Amino acid sequence: MDEYHMRLLIDLHKNANRQGPGSDQETRFAIALSGLAQQRNLKIVDIGCGTGASACVLAEQLDAQITAVDFIQDFLDVLDCKARAKGIHGRLKTLQASMEALPFPDEGLDAIWSEGAIYNMGFERGVSEWRRFLKPGGVLAVSEITWLTDERPQRVQTHWLKEYPEIDTASAKIKILEQNGFTILGYFPLPGRCWVENYYAPLEGRFADFLRVHNNSLEAEAIVKAERDEIALYKAYNAYFGYGYYIAKKLTD
Ligand code: SAH
Repeated sequence: MDEYHMRLLIDLHKNANRQGPGSDQETRFAIALSGLAQQRNLKIVDIGCGTGASACVLAEQLDAQITAVDFIQDFLDVLDCKARAKGIHGRLKTLQASMEALPFPDEGLDAIWSEGAIYNMGFERGVSEWRRFLKPGGVLAVSEITWLTDERPQRVQTHWLKEYPEIDTASAKIKILEQNGFTILGYFPLPGRCWVENYYAPLEGRFADFLRVHNNSLEAEAIVKAERDEIALYKAYNAYFGYGYYIAKKLTD
């Protein structure tokens, strides 16, 4: 991806509350399943935090220090402003780093959170590489694209196998967690409003301004077209795929 294309993508997404499907309510439900609310003085990292929707919920709900990690500084700048405005900046710090080379010591974290981001390095690789940062009994909570049925129409199957070959059913994802030294505490699929109302509708609302600011450049038009295609695919096939939220606990070796 060239630099201009990257700038455009950042520009389209940085003024959003979320850079992927989700909702504060579902983050709170995942927190409830994690059992972390009963614990004190937690250390938590939110990986691929974007502008920090889930990181803010974690900071508000838990007795915790949150480190919110993303490799795009523009997103982290938005989150820093948001955290100051909410008065939670004392317990929510941002860190620019790659999820593939995280600068944390082994067994130092009570929880790792990651909504709609682990696919960037692949679910299995993320689960196995991030595990060492967790204390024994620590929590991993991730949302990840998931098949909702065992069979599905060819068109949607072909699309996702090309875009993200690791897409699979919840039972297959849970098996990967189990094979990598975790036991599952909870799983739930994100409801449709997390996609439509919280992600796609605000995104569609930004297209006109985005195209105007970038003088309807071919690249900007191409980005909008790709987003529109993704939205159409979701609207046609949301019975077959969605985001699964997986909450798991690290077993001792
Ligand atoms: N968790 C946020 C953002 C999801 S979008 C939300 O749910 O709204 C995925 C995020 O992962 C983006 O912010 C993107 O910048 C970040 N990302 C992608 N690849 C990354 C990498 N290699 N290291 C760190 N962050 C990455």
